Amino acid sequence: MLKLAHCYPALMSIYGDRGNVIALTQRCFWRGIELTVTPVEPGDTVAWASFDLAFFGGGQDSGQALIARDLLERQGPGLRAAIEDGLVLLAICGGYQLLGHYFLTHTGERLPGLGVLDIHTVGGKQRLIGNSVVEAELDGTPVRLVGFENHSGRTYHGPGVRPLGKVLVGHGDNGEDGVGGSVYKNTYGCYLHGSLLPKNPQLTDHLLALALRRRYGAATTLAPLDATLELYAQRTLVTRLLP
Ligand code: GLN
Repeated sequence: MLKLAHCYPALMSIYGDRGNVIALTQRCFWRGIELTVTPVEPGDTVAWASFDLAFFGGGQDSGQALIARDLLERQGPGLRAAIEDGLVLLAICGGYQLLGHYFLTHTGERLPGLGVLDIHTVGGKQRLIGNSVVEAELDGTPVRLVGFENHSGRTYHGPGVRPLGKVLVGHGDNGEDGVGGSVYKNTYGCYLHGSLLPKNPQLTDHLLALALRRRYGAATTLAPLDATLELYAQRTLVTRLLP
């Protein structure tokens, strides 16, 4: 059994991000693994140490402003400690931004972040919108992740994170340096909506394998599972988007 916390699903699940939780649940179900999903909303008391996985989706600036304080003050200490201890976390766009030091919105509002990722984000007037392909390496295997981005925030990286991948199509984290996403321990952040995981089963299974290993030990392996259709969809998009 695995336990997943879904951070602020009411306000932070934009552009189909909820599909990531469905993909994780379904690929567990097909393997006979039970995955329980616990929504975390403002005001909730959460035993972060008991979770294997977490998902934190994107949202509008206004939604981010509504949950930022709860994230920092109520969930902050427990969530930060869990991340340091190897909690497997996927954060998309608005959620990704709030794991960093701060998000300065395009209207000048400064939203403090959890500071667990060594990134900061500055909103720009022009939104960065469109389909995206990010070339990443998962367990030594190159994977072309496909997704859709729509953000005003430009995310800049410090030395405490490593890039998830290189942008082949789209704007990536800031539209300048070709970096698409960040990794710190078992925390993965990027701008890819779409939803991301249904179209990128290699990443879904990578996260599940990490979560199983964390709970049951390093020798635990994830049973193989067919992904023919998902990989066909992914390949089709890559072929269509890459010049
Ligand atoms: N509000 C943030 C931005 O515009 C995040 C957007 C999102 O999650 N898609 O940058």
